[in-house]
Amino acid sequence: MRLLSSILEKTVALVFPNTCLICNKISPLKHFCKNCLPSPELISLKTCDKCGLPVKLCACKWNFYYFDKMISCLEADNKTKSAFYSFKFGGNRSGYEFFSLKMVERLKEKQGDFKIDIITSVPSHKSTLNERGYDQVKLLAKGISRQLKVKYIPLLKQPKKASKQHETNTIEQRFSNVVSKYSFCNNCNIKGKTILLVDDIKTTGATLSQCAKELKLSGAESVIAITALTVYPKNKDEEKQTVEKN
Ligand SMILES: [Zn+2]
Ligand SMILES: [Zn+2]
Repeated sequence: MRLLSSILEKTVALVFPNTCLICNKISPLKHFCKNCLPSPELISLKTCDKCGLPVKLCACKWNFYYFDKMISCLEADNKTKSAFYSFKFGGNRSGYEFFSLKMVERLKEKQGDFKIDIITSVPSHKSTLNERGYDQVKLLAKGISRQLKVKYIPLLKQPKKASKQHETNTIEQRFSNVVSKYSFCNNCNIKGKTILLVDDIKTTGATLSQCAKELKLSGAESVIAITALTVYPKNKDEEKQTVEKN
């Protein structure tokens, strides 16, 4: 039986070889070739439970967030960033397997005693999805859903296209850019439920906060946000501060 499954595995690998997420070369390893293999570490800095940023960069005193907890997962070293951009923009949709595994690892480390009832994802506008050909955030959320055995339900939609968040200049612009861009789009009753809200990357948290607001207005008891990567914003009086490990 073992021999059979090993033959089957080798045959599948021959027909559908693994390609490296970064350089696209065929590789015996899953997701990466030997040269590009990132060794992403889960974030080792002490982070604020609410905004998910390292404690010294905590942005809670400037921003109001509708989510109850924010979990950032991976240190963004160069190889991890390349793998992430290849997954998000380069058509390498199978990257979700790698990133969702790491997200679950981090979630288990941070989860504490809360129980998740439903997993959902930050939606993209139709035109963005048509351009990209796939919804990388939904792939991540479904990957997490399969591992945790918690159902994935698409609860939100983005009927109006927001200008791209990275094209805005200030934190205030980012927050106002996403106001009213998302809406609840499902008949399912989420009253009293704890929702895990998945996105791929967090910068200011404006998008996640707006989505969390819609979920709360529709009855969610609490919203835990989680992203694979986090960009540490430079905030007003700590811009030049070096973050010390610990
Ligand atoms: Zn490679
Ligand atoms: Zn904070």
